[in-house]
Amino acid sequence: MLKLITGAEVFSPNYLGKKDVLIADGRIMAIEDEISPTSVYQSCQVIDATGLKLVPGFVDSLVHITGGGGEGGFHTRTPQIQLTDATLNGITTMVGVLGTDATTRSLPDLLAKARALTFEGISCYCHTGSYQVPVCTVTGSVRDDIILIPDFIGVGEIAIADHRSSFPTIEELSRIAADARVGGMLSSKKGIVSIHMGDSTDHLDLLEKIIKATDLPINQFYPTHINRNIGLMNAGKQWAMDGGYIDLTTSTTEMDLANGEPRCCEALAELLDDGVDIKQISFSSDGHASLPIFDNEGNLVGLKVGSEASLFNEVRDAIQQFDIPLETAIKVITSSPADILGLKDKGRIEVSADADLVLLEPQSLAIHTVIAKGQVMVESGSAVVKGTFE
Ligand code: ZN
Repeated sequence: MLKLITGAEVFSPNYLGKKDVLIADGRIMAIEDEISPTSVYQSCQVIDATGLKLVPGFVDSLVHITGGGGEGGFHTRTPQIQLTDATLNGITTMVGVLGTDATTRSLPDLLAKARALTFEGISCYCHTGSYQVPVCTVTGSVRDDIILIPDFIGVGEIAIADHRSSFPTIEELSRIAADARVGGMLSSKKGIVSIHMGDSTDHLDLLEKIIKATDLPINQFYPTHINRNIGLMNAGKQWAMDGGYIDLTTSTTEMDLANGEPRCCEALAELLDDGVDIKQISFSSDGHASLPIFDNEGNLVGLKVGSEASLFNEVRDAIQQFDIPLETAIKVITSSPADILGLKDKGRIEVSADADLVLLEPQSLAIHTVIAKGQVMVESGSAVVKGTFE
């Protein structure tokens, strides 16, 4: 079925002006000033988007799709994601990862859930490996997992600088990164190494030592939760200045904010002011993670669940509260993560890219319509396609 979106202001994410966008077989077929649904396109469905803004579907590079946690015992294991948790929030591409618990949660379960979400209409990839080292794998090797299993595009999140990590050595983490790199090379993937950053004051020291001690390039690593505290933010800024990628987490708890965790919108404004290239910055939701709240002695005193809604909320606030242009801010959840993850057909509105699209209201920037691989998932802010058990 052909679809024609007419009259929207298109941000590819770069501003293209008012354009018509033709979708065929799940991909973008044409972007022109005017396309008329003539007899050639008799079965063409026309979506009148006059006055709306068209942006690429959002790429969320870290989601606990099978749930995460629970650091407060079995009853605090967070639930798995449902399709509309993603689509209602504009997310059309996700990367699923395991979290703190790789004992009661497993990679086969993660793979099955990613395939379920892809079947239901969005694009869901995942990383092999786990928070702790030695990492879990399906085949027995990170390299083989990435080469042989199409869904696996990298490894992680591997925890460092955190009291919940397994404190990997330089040698252990270098070996994992080298395996991911070669696995990626042999299967045309990025083989990115997602790193969970904790609260410890070592910050990015371990990664910096690996870059110095080995031939691994800085952009093999993709540290996340960089806005966890000011010290880590500053270390992350330097890491980005040196050519590394940084990922900021949009899910925060009230206590995190009270403890001085900078919000993503605020952190983005600061990073851009200091000259960090937008191509090196992404946001992820850490959706469905357990967000434990610890006191100063490390005791668990509260628990929240990461929200996928926070992903675009922080981008919207960056635009509306920090005056960052839409075409710049939107890159942190579209082209930047797509490029960092090596997802060539994602994160951009261009001919032959996947037709993953979001229409936004002009003033409020509320999500109006969401299209994934050419299928309308959300219309006028309501889900028209639901997950199997929703
Ligand atoms: Zn994490």
